[in-house]
Amino acid sequence: MKPAPFAYARARSVAQAIELLAHEEARLLAGGQSLIATLNMRLSAPRLLVDLNGIGGLDGIARKDGWIEIGALVRHAQAERSAEVARHAPLIAAALPHIGHPAIRNRGTIGGSIAFADPAAELPACLLALGGEVAIAGPQGSRSVKADDFFKDLFETALTPHDVLTAIRVPAADATARTGFAEFARRHGDYAMVGLAAAARADGKGLRDVRLAFFGVGATPVRARGAETALGGGDVAAAVKALEQDLNPPDDVQATGAVKKHLAGVLLRRVSRQLLEPRS
Ligand SMILES: Cc1cc2nc3c(=O)[nH]c(=O)nc-3n(C[C@H](O)[C@H](O)[C@H](O)COP(=O)(O)OP(=O)(O)OC[C@H]3O[C@@H](n4cnc5c(N)ncnc54)[C@H](O)[C@@H]3O)c2cc1C
Repeated sequence: MKPAPFAYARARSVAQAIELLAHEEARLLAGGQSLIATLNMRLSAPRLLVDLNGIGGLDGIARKDGWIEIGALVRHAQAERSAEVARHAPLIAAALPHIGHPAIRNRGTIGGSIAFADPAAELPACLLALGGEVAIAGPQGSRSVKADDFFKDLFETALTPHDVLTAIRVPAADATARTGFAEFARRHGDYAMVGLAAAARADGKGLRDVRLAFFGVGATPVRARGAETALGGGDVAAAVKALEQDLNPPDDVQATGAVKKHLAGVLLRRVSRQLLEPRS
């Protein structure tokens, strides 16, 4: 199928993009890897596409005040090759190779993934596990929204139709940081049936500040708070058991909710090992 007719405008600045978004039924275009498919299938029919790709300054990766800031237009492939991301955001570095295939990662952007907020996507879960935040520019100025408050419902975030996501920020990993990542997908590069992004701090031989963000198990990435407490107490078996209460995955085309819950437990055991016994 072909998309419904639309007008096209290439924004030269974030301010101009926000101005253009005031038009009725305007939609931002970043890497186009999700949006173009929805247009072609006529799941979405905006009147105006506002292309972000001509805006300078949104494609940087920088370390600032203990945080790593990744610009909205950074491509997945660029982040995958970044020494800053590998060193200071190892959870994101571990997740990136699981996103689609190289052609998709060459075009798809970090901002697009977070804004689109597919519940089975890797990066929203990483942002949540790391306790990161999203930088947003809108008609009323700029604001930051914590990941815990950003993902609202299925494909629904704290972004309004008039906002531009300009960057994400995650705390830069230090010597005590521990991260773990694992997912089940039918084929490498497919969206995950179930996945887990995790972050914690080493505390002697144990862990503290454990954050477990599952994806593919609900409308948004889901924190497993009972399992986080149990893992902080060093009890992996209790953490797996706590998932019974923490998660309530619906059946979908990939698997039943019961299978997803079982797989979540398997992933938690694997990721617990990564957190407790990191490779040096
Ligand atoms: C075959 C295939 C397999 C894929 N597999 C995976 C996978 O396994 N895991 C995964 O996570 N993703 C997967 N993707 C999606 C891919 O990661 C996309 O790149 C990503 O979801 C969207 O990023 P984008 O830059 O392409 O955004 P676009 O498609 O351009 O935009 C997506 C949505 O986000 C909005 N948007 C984009 N940028 C901004 C911004 N800066 N501010 C506000 N709103 C914005 C757009 O208006 C649109 O609604 C796959 C895609 C394909 C085609």
